[in-house]
Amino acid sequence: MLYDTILNLVPREKIHLQTKVLSIEQNHDEVMIQTSDNTTYRGDILVGADGAYSVVRQGLYQLLEKAGQLPESDKEQLPYTNVCLVGTTEPLDVAKYPYLDKPESYFVGVLGDDTPYTWVVFSTKDARVCWMVVKHLTSVSRKEDSGIQNSEWGPEAADAMCEQVRDFRFPHGLTMGELIDQTRKELISKVMLEEKLFETWFAGRTVLVGDACHKMHPAAGLGAVSAMHDAVVLANQLFGLESTGVEDLKKAFQAYRDERYPQTVQSFETSQTMARLLGRSWMNTIVRMLTRRIPKWLWRKVMDKMQGYRPQATFLPLVPDRGSSKPAPQASLKLAKKFPQPKLNPVSVSALNKK
Ligand SMILES: Cc1cc2nc3c(=O)[nH]c(=O)nc-3n(C[C@H](O)[C@H](O)[C@H](O)COP(=O)(O)OP(=O)(O)OC[C@H]3O[C@@H](n4cnc5c(N)ncnc54)[C@H](O)[C@@H]3O)c2cc1C
Repeated sequence: MLYDTILNLVPREKIHLQTKVLSIEQNHDEVMIQTSDNTTYRGDILVGADGAYSVVRQGLYQLLEKAGQLPESDKEQLPYTNVCLVGTTEPLDVAKYPYLDKPESYFVGVLGDDTPYTWVVFSTKDARVCWMVVKHLTSVSRKEDSGIQNSEWGPEAADAMCEQVRDFRFPHGLTMGELIDQTRKELISKVMLEEKLFETWFAGRTVLVGDACHKMHPAAGLGAVSAMHDAVVLANQLFGLESTGVEDLKKAFQAYRDERYPQTVQSFETSQTMARLLGRSWMNTIVRMLTRRIPKWLWRKVMDKMQGYRPQATFLPLVPDRGSSKPAPQASLKLAKKFPQPKLNPVSVSALNKK
């Protein structure tokens, strides 16, 4: 639905599928990308939203390193201590699985007794089950480590891990095997769960958003949320640009990072804490015991902090506040005052899809 909505709003000729960015260059006046279809594109601004192994980030960091402007921590590769098998089933038969036919999501996490695994499921409104098996490694790894071959991450690797985890059980007698058998093969992946917060988010005409500048453990479910928050705040700043001169871009990119970085540190730390809660050490066990004793009012405070930040696009009609926790202040909302609020008729997603 999200893709369809975006596809309906962006002119088709602006979308290039099956094309990879290979390298970037930039100077005072423009930024250029070379793509795998042998084309060079030129523009005023390059937004790298190309994920944890971002080519845009790597290209930008090479330029900065040559100029001696890259912080040491940004030279280090992304570490991970968990690998994960993840998938989403087809809609399941609620007659066979009646606990999926409830208004609340069926949301269960299991910590294996004598295995280095944790497994989690949650159901969706249409009775699909999103499942994930996390394997806890005993040491920190990196993708570039010489021992790691592609064969460890392809479809065969996912198949092999499926076999290892088939007998894992959930309450109500549900097994991982049942879920795997009802999941299309192309919807099963084996992935690394890297964790890294990069310091450098922009330079010159290039700026990064999402996993390209902050890769979080998914335990708190904050990665894509943070990527969307970045996009909203950056779009606000771009909308408020006085010119596309490099000095104005610097101010806008700096304002974007100033608003997003402190929030991202918080989300990154929350993700780390939640990830450790799933861990298998005695320390994790103690933390889990303590969290069970946290009073409701304190949880509420934690949740308010986690959910409070919800930036709005300043160039669209503001969404009325419907949440039960108050929204946190948003610096770029100031820009909304600078621009008159457009009067748009609300358009539903289904109406957009029909266009
Ligand atoms: C198992 C798991 C569960 C998760 N659960 C949650 C959750 O519950 N909630 C949540 O908020 N987040 C969750 N996340 C995190 C979330 O998936 C990511 O944070 C989010 O997808 C990041 O979005 P992005 O656009 O920055 O990067 P990506 O989603 O990685 O998108 C990058 C895009 O760039 C493209 N690309 C890469 N290189 C190039 C290139 N050279 N040229 C052109 N295109 C390129 C890729 O094909 C891809 O389409 C989870 C992640 C995992 C692994």
